[in-house]
Parts: sequence; structure tokens; C-alpha cells
Amino acid sequence: MGSQGQQLHIFVFPLMAPGHLLPAVDIAKLFAAKGVRVSIITTAGEERAIETSLCRSTEAGHRVRTLLVEWSSSAVGLPDNLSSVKTPDMHMDFLVSTPALRPSFERLVKNHRPAAIVTDMFFPWTAEVAEEVRIPRLVFHGTSFFYLCIKGKLNLAAASQESHTDSGDRFVIPGIPHRIELSRSQVIDTKRMRPDFLDMFMKIMEAEGRSYGTVVNSFYELEPDYADHYRNVIGRKAWHIGPVFLRNEDAADNAVRGGKCAVDQAIFSRWLDSKAASSVLYVCFGSLSRFKVTQLREIAAGLESSGHPFIWVVKNSGQGNSSGQWLPEGFEERVADSGMGMIIRGWAPQVLILNHVAIGGFLTHCGWNSSLESFSAGLPVVTWPMFADQFCNERMLVDMLKVGVEIGVKTCSLVEEERDAVKAEEIASAIGRLMGDSPEAEERRRRARELKAAARGAVEEGGSSYKDLARLIQELSGQQSTASHVRT
Ligand code: UDP
Repeated sequence: MGSQGQQLHIFVFPLMAPGHLLPAVDIAKLFAAKGVRVSIITTAGEERAIETSLCRSTEAGHRVRTLLVEWSSSAVGLPDNLSSVKTPDMHMDFLVSTPALRPSFERLVKNHRPAAIVTDMFFPWTAEVAEEVRIPRLVFHGTSFFYLCIKGKLNLAAASQESHTDSGDRFVIPGIPHRIELSRSQVIDTKRMRPDFLDMFMKIMEAEGRSYGTVVNSFYELEPDYADHYRNVIGRKAWHIGPVFLRNEDAADNAVRGGKCAVDQAIFSRWLDSKAASSVLYVCFGSLSRFKVTQLREIAAGLESSGHPFIWVVKNSGQGNSSGQWLPEGFEERVADSGMGMIIRGWAPQVLILNHVAIGGFLTHCGWNSSLESFSAGLPVVTWPMFADQFCNERMLVDMLKVGVEIGVKTCSLVEEERDAVKAEEIASAIGRLMGDSPEAEERRRRARELKAAARGAVEEGGSSYKDLARLIQELSGQQSTASHVRT
């Protein structure tokens, strides 16, 4: 409640992509469970993806609903969510076109007068809307404090001779609490960016500086040095309130998270129940990553020769024909008949699967949500980053948290053809190191179990994220009452 008994009403407006929408919906539900009235702003297509999950919240008596925005006519031809775009160019078109949502968003803000807005980093123009109506804008990036601290330095450091190591193209990220090395090719090269895409990133940085603060899906114990650095050295107000997906307390919530499972849940549950504890590798590359057919075949061969049972979630299995052409000859029949593997074509209830007792490791593209979900489930990972913040997340998983085995890729790119080809032997070898019983593998498991306990502790009553959320709500309520005094 705000002061004077007025219920706090906030807008949560995520980018229309699962990696942003899903944590934002969790944030909305977290606020709503604390008595805040929340409107999630999204498009009609995305509303369908979150419908069931929101129903469960409203049934629990929480005030959370959706309000719809639409692309204006300048964006004709674009789908209304990022996972439906087919090419890297369309991916960029989508992201640079978000100002086309501004007229309908502005109308909603003016009609409903929320006390504050929590909006995606990809909507820098929402900072101007908030300024016009004099309400706080909180920005949600969907990444770690670590990445928030280093993202502005990466291009300069990659280009500067001073930060280079003796070993070829590697450089050290300057001015941060740990010694972290990256290769130049692992950093998004702004010189090669489309000008409109680069311009969008400049606007995002500028709007972050103008915003009231940042909501971070992380927890203090995970990265205390960077949570402090972001606040005290970079000088931004921030609240750590994660891992936010942990608020989906029960299996029924997790089963509907993000959409309908492509396989009958009873089928994969039975399959998992038949496996020994910690024996199965879960393989998924997030919601947006696609592979060439040749790479899919190498993955299949690597999984088979690793000898470890697996669940493999494939997003672009429509390539070739529905089962055969993108897989090695007889692969699917062999792994199904022997009980060694299961392929899920399309959407999988990832959080539900990761928390099954049979899962012992995760081969991941290192998206921030997948990273949080892996260690919140106590799982070590094989890291195979591709673009965005993923190479930096890999450094965190491998160097700082020491729960990761690198697959060894070096090229950051949205374009499949530009990425490194990884051979079946390399895949099998990394899986062997992760799932084996060497002292290093045991140590990674021990570290992952520690992280699981810390993540869960953070969101429990009295935990660091629990308390920071309460502080944020209190501060927004205070803002609301000051604003209403000024108006009266
Ligand atoms: N996800 C899922 N099922 C899938 C693919 C993804 O539930 O088949 C979820 C996953 O649990 C995570 C999100 O979608 O919460 C993906 O976010 P992440 O940051 O890991 O990667 P992105 O998709 O943004 O690259």
C-alpha cells in the first residue's frame, strides 16, 4: 500500500522475447504478491504465452493483469515477438523498431497513471514518457550485475593495447574486482554493427543514466563485488530481487511457464523417473539460438558418443524433414530404443526439468536466465555461448563461480554462419568432464550445490532479495505519496 491507503500501481513492460518476458512476469507476480497492483504491458501474441501463468496468480487473489500495446503502422510486417523472427537482420529490425510501440504505450500511461514503470532496456524511449508524466522509470536489463558493470568497457578494452595479454587476442577487463580475460572475437564489435543498431545501444546507455534505478534479477551473495561496484563505483541505484523465477513455487507453475510443452509432460516425466539420480544431461540453447544442420548433426553425434543419457531441446528441427535430415542416420530410433535420449522439438518446461532429481548437468548457451536456473537447481554446466551477454556469463560460470566446463567457442555473433563449428568429439569430451567422477567434477557439483542453497536463501523471508524487494516497494510508495502531495 502507498501512504494514504492508496494502492501502489505499477506497469511492467518487458521486451517481447521469452528471456525478457518470463522474468518480467515473475517480477510482476512478486510485486502483486506483496499487495501492489500490477499491469503487464505486452502484445496480443505474448499475452497468450503468459495467460495460464497469470491466471494462477489472480486465482491466488493477486491484482495482476495485462494491457495491450500494438506496433504503429511504421513497423508493419514485424511479428509481435522476437522468437518468431527468422533472420539476424530481422532480429535487429525488431529491436530498432520498438519506438513504434510508443504511441499506444503513452496512451496507456496517460489513461491509467501508474505510480512507476519497470521497462525493458530495449525501450529507452520509455524514460522520456516517464519524465513527461513525472513518474519513476526503473530499467530491467535481464542480466547480471557483473555484465552491467563491464558492458560499457568491453569495446574500449578489446581495442586497447594496454589491456592485452601476451597470448594473442586476449585482453583483461580493466577496473573490476576480478582478473577476467576475454578474446576480442568474444565481444560484440560495435565497429561492425549496423548504424541503427549501434544508435539504439547508445540510446539504451543514455536512458539507463536518466532512469530512476535498475531492477536486477540476481542476488547479492552471488556477485557481491559487482552489486557493490554497480552501485558505488558506477553510481546507479539498483535493487537485486532474484532469482525471480524461484517465486513459481510449485511444479504446476513451472509446467506452464512460457508456454505449452511440445511433448506430453507425462512422457518425459516417466522417462526421467526411470533414470538414476544426477545421471541425465539437459541440453537447451535458450529461446532464440538456431543452428545450421551440420552443427545439429555434430551435437547429435557428440551426445550419443558421450554415453550419458540426455534430454535435448531443439528449436529449429523444422530444417530438412521433421525427423530425419538434420539427424545422423537412425539416431532418434537408436537413442529412443536404448532409453538413452529424448528430443523435445519446440518448447520445454525448462525449470521443471532442471529440478528433476535425475538431471545432473546442463549444456547451455549461457543466457542469463538459464544460468540462474542452472545454479538455482544446483547443476554444473557445459558452456556454449553465442551472442549478447553470453560470453561474459560464461566467464562468470567458469572463472568466478567455478561450476562450468567450456566447450571452447570464440566467436560472438547473431549469425549462425559466423559462429565456430564445434565437433562431436569436443562436445563429447566436455560432457565427459562435466558428468564424470573426477575430483574436478565433484568440486563443480559441490560448488553448484552451495549456489543452490544461497539462491534459495536469498528469496526466502529475511533473505537479501526478499529484503531488497520490500525496500523497493517502500521507496516507490514513498515516491507516490510525495507526488500526490505535490499534485494536491
Ligand atoms: N525456456 C524454456 N523452455 C525452452 C527454452 C527456454 O522454459 O524450451 C526458458 C528458460 O527457462 C529461460 C528462458 O526461456 O527462462 C530463456 O532465457 P535465457 O536468458 O536463458 O536465454 P534467451 O532465450 O534469452 O537467449
